Amino acid sequence: MEQTIRVELSETLKEKPKTDQLEFGRVFTDHMFVMEYTEPLGWHNPSIVPYQPLTIDPSAMIFHYGQSVFEGLKAYLTSDGDAQLFRPERNLKRLNRSNQRLCIPEIDEKLALKAIKELVALEKDWIPGAEGTSLYIRPFIISTEPYLGVAPSRHYKFIVILSPVGAYYKEGINPVKIAVESQFVRAVVGGTGEAKTGGNYASSLKAQEVVAKEGYAQVLWLDGVEKKYIEEVGSMNVFFKINGEVVTPALNGSILEGVTRNSVIQLLKHWNVPVVERKISIDELHEAYKAGQLEEAFGAGTAAVISPIGQLTWRKEHLVINNGETGEISKKVYDTLTEIQYGKTEDPFDWVEKVSVPSKVKHA
Ligand SMILES: *Cc1c(COP(=O)(O)O)cnc(C)c1O
Repeated sequence: MEQTIRVELSETLKEKPKTDQLEFGRVFTDHMFVMEYTEPLGWHNPSIVPYQPLTIDPSAMIFHYGQSVFEGLKAYLTSDGDAQLFRPERNLKRLNRSNQRLCIPEIDEKLALKAIKELVALEKDWIPGAEGTSLYIRPFIISTEPYLGVAPSRHYKFIVILSPVGAYYKEGINPVKIAVESQFVRAVVGGTGEAKTGGNYASSLKAQEVVAKEGYAQVLWLDGVEKKYIEEVGSMNVFFKINGEVVTPALNGSILEGVTRNSVIQLLKHWNVPVVERKISIDELHEAYKAGQLEEAFGAGTAAVISPIGQLTWRKEHLVINNGETGEISKKVYDTLTEIQYGKTEDPFDWVEKVSVPSKVKHA
C-alpha cells in the first residue's frame, strides 16, 4: 500500500542566500520531512512540516550512546530547470545497512525516496542554479527514547533536511596535501566503519585537527590493526593510478562503501581503463612512487566528487604526485560524473532520477 505523506506548509518563507555566498551546511530550506518510530506502531506519520527545532527529552538515548545514522546526497538543477537526484536508491539501501549495524529499525526505502522527492519538489526554488552548486540532502535517524539503559532505543525519528550548497571548487578542481595517519585509526573490521554513523566522525576529528595545524587538508587512514593497508582519505574513498592501472582498497568491513566509489569504478570499466579493488599497503604505494609509477591519487565522495591528492606525506617524506597537479583520469572522472549529475551529457547507466514537480507546487 502506498503511504501518503502529510504536508503542513510553512506560513512564512525564508530569504534565500545569494548563490556566491553559500557555505556548506549553514542554511536550511523552509520545510523538512519527519517520520516517527514507536513500538508497537513501527514507523508512522510521515510528514513534511515547516523546518523547526526538535523538542527532545534530555534523557533521549541519542545524547548518551550515539545511536544514529545519516546519509548525504544532492539534488541538481539541469539547464532545462529540472531537478534530479543521483543514484538515490543506493543511499537508502546504505541507510538501511547502517540501521542494521546500529540496531535501528529499517525504514521503507520506497517511502523514504518518495519523501525525498516530494520534499525536493516542494523546495525546488532552493536549488541554486550556478555552476557546481546544488541542494544537499541530509537524511538521518536519531534514537529518541528517554532512557539511560544501554540497549537499542524503542523510539526514533527519521528526518530529512535540505541545504543549498556552493561549488566545492570555486577556482577549478584543486589538489590537496594529505598526511598518512600513523597514530589514530578511523575504523576496524567488526566495528562501525562500514556504517554511516556520527560516531565514526566524532572519533576522526582528532587526527584531522592535528594535521590541519601542519597544513594538511586531511589524513590518509590505514587499517586499524596493522596500520599497514590503505583504507580511506578523510571521509572519502581513495583511488591510485599505478603504472596505468587504477587501484582502490577492496571493501573489507571497515571501509564505507561510497556511491561515488562505485560510480568511478563503473565509469573506468566503461572506458576500458584497468581498475581493481584489492588490498594495497602504504609500503607498496611508496615503492610505486619510488619507481616513478604512482601516476595519480584522488579521493571520491559526494561533496567534492573527486579530490585530487597532490602530495602525500609519510614518515616525514613528501611524495609529490603528478607534480602536484590534477591527473588526466581524475579530471576525466570528475568532468563526466558532474556532467551526468547536471544532465549535461548522456547517462548510459541510468544513474539520474528526475524529481517531478507537481503543478500545485510549481512556482510561477
Ligand atoms: C559518506 C562517506 C564516503 C563517501 O560516500 P559517497 O556515497 O560517495 O558520498 C566515504 N567514506 C566515508 C567514511 C563516508 O562517510
